[in-house]
Amino acid sequence: MKVYSFPRGGFSYKDTTAPELNSPDIIDAFLPALTIIPLGNSGSRVQPLVSIGDTVKEGMLIGKANGPGTVNLYSPVPGRIIRKAVWKDSNSLETEALVIKLEGSFERLGKKEEAFSWRGMSRYDLQRIISDFGIVEMENFGRPLADIISGFRKDNEKITLVVRCVFDDPWLAADYALCRERLKAVVEGAIIVYHACSKASNIIFAVSHLEKKMGEDLLAEARHYDIPAALVLTSSRYPQRQNRELELALRIYEKKESLALGAFLILGPAVLAAAHDAVKYKRPILDRYVAVGGSAVKRAKIMKVRIGTRIGELIEQCEGFNGKPERIAAGSPLSGKQIKYLDEPIMKTSFAIVAMLKTQASLHKMQNCINCGECRTVCPVGLDPQNIYKKIVIFGMEAATTGCHGCGCCKVVCPSALPLSETIQGGV
Ligand code: SF4
Ligand code: SF4
Repeated sequence: MKVYSFPRGGFSYKDTTAPELNSPDIIDAFLPALTIIPLGNSGSRVQPLVSIGDTVKEGMLIGKANGPGTVNLYSPVPGRIIRKAVWKDSNSLETEALVIKLEGSFERLGKKEEAFSWRGMSRYDLQRIISDFGIVEMENFGRPLADIISGFRKDNEKITLVVRCVFDDPWLAADYALCRERLKAVVEGAIIVYHACSKASNIIFAVSHLEKKMGEDLLAEARHYDIPAALVLTSSRYPQRQNRELELALRIYEKKESLALGAFLILGPAVLAAAHDAVKYKRPILDRYVAVGGSAVKRAKIMKVRIGTRIGELIEQCEGFNGKPERIAAGSPLSGKQIKYLDEPIMKTSFAIVAMLKTQASLHKMQNCINCGECRTVCPVGLDPQNIYKKIVIFGMEAATTGCHGCGCCKVVCPSALPLSETIQGGV
């Protein structure tokens, strides 16, 4: 089977401090004594429906969406709201959160959940359930799935739903584990989103060529539904998973097969499994799979974690730190958000927590550019990161060229450890 790829740049990303992709055990993280549920920040904040002292149940609605980009909030645990917490994150944005003390009994955990039939539902009903249960992308900025689907609804073209199981980054170990453990839910979630999306005409399973067997299993499961579906193998070169690079690879496939695929609605396995749970079990997102590791962590693990669990608790369950962490990132070290406090919670978007010793955080001390050209070689957009970086440093952001999508390839390969991607993206 042919393997499709983006045409230039990228690199093979390996990291021995990540949990093994094929790690046999996925551990249930301890239930958190205190759960921290962010209400958002001043830019986008949900409307709380509970106050300090109130008792909440597992899966109870505790916050109402408040405009675009926000979603309804549910309590992941039973307990009592004991206080509000406020902190400034690494971008100096103030985050306000509810703190829930674990009390009472779980209504869902460990119990068989009732399955509801969704087959006769209209797309409007499916969209409403996805919206009501606060389903989001579960990576990057956590865009609401309902917003993504309705954005496509305005489009007149036909749509191909792309199920993205591309593992170009070892820190996607949790997504890999989810695909393996919940393959049927991922496929049924894709079928649900297909039906929720009026213009969808077929489904493509885009799977890294190293995981061909997983791709065949996904396609075999999809054959149980009467929907056109295909398997496309992609490279596993970073950043193949990013929308731009995946779309480039799929356009090559489209041309070679003389197809007309229309616009691509690209979704990862975690959001599809969440859509499945919302529609089939009326279940909001209560937990997620998280890869925890990095050179500062004694034992890397993949864990199933309640949303709102403090990051420090997960590190403890990984046997603690090896030494003083220089940097902790939520998400991949290449593009993840910096964590300032170990009390910060696991969010729906936290697919990995990476605690790095100094040696890993800054593989070497920042030095002057040596004109090696590596950054130009790996940039998948064809930019000259060295040149843009120098212009920004000398002339300021006006000199920046647009087109960088922040993949971080240039920064990783730079032997002088220059903060190329952050500077080009305006983060410095
Ligand atoms: S310049 Fe931007 S797009 Fe190019 S490698 Fe760097 S981060 Fe990626
Ligand atoms: S990779 Fe770093 S050292 Fe090499 S040319 Fe680019 S900026 Fe300069």
